[in-house]
Amino acid sequence: MSRKRYTPEQIVRGRSGAFTGISSPLELRSMDHPVFAFDNTYARLPEQFYARLPPTSVQSPKLIKMNEGLAKALELDAEFLATEQGVAVLAGNNVPAGADPLAMAYAGHQFGGWVPQLGDGRAILLGEIVDKDGKRRDVQLKGAGPTPFSRSGDGRSALGPVLREYIVSEAMYVLGVPTTRAFAAVSTGERVIRETVLPGAILTRVAASHIRVGTFQFFVARNEMDSVRILADYVIARHYPEVADDDCPYMALLEAIVSAHAQLVAKWQLVGFIHGVMNTDNTTVSGETIDYGPCAFMDTYHPDTVYSSIDRYRRYSYANQPSIAQWNLVQLAKCLIHVVEGDADVALSRAQKAVDSFLAQFEGHYSDGLARKLGLADPRPDDARLGKDLLDCMAENDADFTLTFHGLASASIENGDTSDVSALFANPDEFESWAGEWRARLKEETPDTQEIFQRLRAENPAVIPRNHLVEEVIRAAEGQGDYAPFEKLLAVVTSPFKTPEEGRYMRPPRPDQIVRQTFCGT
Ligand code: AMP
Ligand code: MG
Repeated sequence: MSRKRYTPEQIVRGRSGAFTGISSPLELRSMDHPVFAFDNTYARLPEQFYARLPPTSVQSPKLIKMNEGLAKALELDAEFLATEQGVAVLAGNNVPAGADPLAMAYAGHQFGGWVPQLGDGRAILLGEIVDKDGKRRDVQLKGAGPTPFSRSGDGRSALGPVLREYIVSEAMYVLGVPTTRAFAAVSTGERVIRETVLPGAILTRVAASHIRVGTFQFFVARNEMDSVRILADYVIARHYPEVADDDCPYMALLEAIVSAHAQLVAKWQLVGFIHGVMNTDNTTVSGETIDYGPCAFMDTYHPDTVYSSIDRYRRYSYANQPSIAQWNLVQLAKCLIHVVEGDADVALSRAQKAVDSFLAQFEGHYSDGLARKLGLADPRPDDARLGKDLLDCMAENDADFTLTFHGLASASIENGDTSDVSALFANPDEFESWAGEWRARLKEETPDTQEIFQRLRAENPAVIPRNHLVEEVIRAAEGQGDYAPFEKLLAVVTSPFKTPEEGRYMRPPRPDQIVRQTFCGT
């Protein structure tokens, strides 16, 4: 079946309420709003997709941080947004013109268990904006008050998780990992009650969209197949317009999302990132990392690492992330298979093939990336073993993930000083013996040691947002209202390839600083 190919600029809802396309943002932008030139296509989808409601205002909002670089990229007036009126918008006290605030409906598998209704329990989508390159993005306030999906929650966010999401998502962005981004953080002047009483905050989050695997599951579980079709068409128009002309667009959509996640999870593994809550409601269809909860970057490398206090069965350990991503995509396949047109057997075998291809696609991206981290521009099949040998050696010797890879640059020079990196290993000789084989392999690729050094430095960051540093920043903000440590850490982790002036930002935690567990804090 051939279908109209929509550009993301053309989504509109037809008279029947069915999704038919996207309208031109240009006509809507001519409203010339000083804050956001909203063009809200999701709000034009049928009413079962969301609950329409404004944010709940807060007592005394104060700006903690605005992402000026992102404001510039999105052509937003950062100066205005930093004024009292602007901060009122970021706090949900003032709904800007053109916004069509709503909480999105979704369901999901949480730790493998089915939950038929989740939805935005504390987030309000203000609307969508389109940047000068035509890229459409959601603008959402996280922690903006209760919604019909809040269940027993208060609809709010504590300051700590807001600062953590700000730092970690921006670090992921500069490391080249697809991710939602932090646009602003405001404190609310209100308290939230968790295990203790904590200061409240709101994060303004920007995303390619907030549509999740769980959004599809929500409608399938209700047997609302028309809504599944409308959603699938919408996702195609918004994220994957190139699949619209396929014989079976919904299967082509599945394949595109499988590929996006194979790339995404490979990138997570290559920077040592552990998401911690890879539930289907935290799995975007755009392929961006979303919902930074008890997430963490590994210090010492071990594939079985888990930080999240709620991950009791270690379902979301570092090593499990690829197979869990595949499991989540199987849930998406099970949704899309309901709405395919044409021969059901053909579609089923295509869906099976798509999800089966995930691990091979992941492996391809991962081994290419690992070879690049070893300084190899032209990887050979055997390089995967060389990489694995290093990782095994790191695991056996409690070596720090980030610093080992970062240290490879200086260790690449024959007869150079390798003591910095080998000292990261409980038995330095084991690293040295691996390094001998590795240097020989590098030499086969190029004799130019400077080039290798540069390649290694460009692939392996010096800093990541280490848990103990993130915790330190949160404690200072919560305790004394001191955001200077937050600003400093943010500056360091958003220039991750630069050696920081203060060595403490690079060093692994001392034994007494190690954070062994992280908490959702929701
Ligand atoms: P998360 O683990 O943060 O991805 O959230 C899982 C579900 O719980 C989502 O439906 C959230 O909207 C909801 N939720 C999390 N925290 C709160 C809260 N403080 N109030 C209301 N709903 C919440
Ligand atoms: Mg979530």
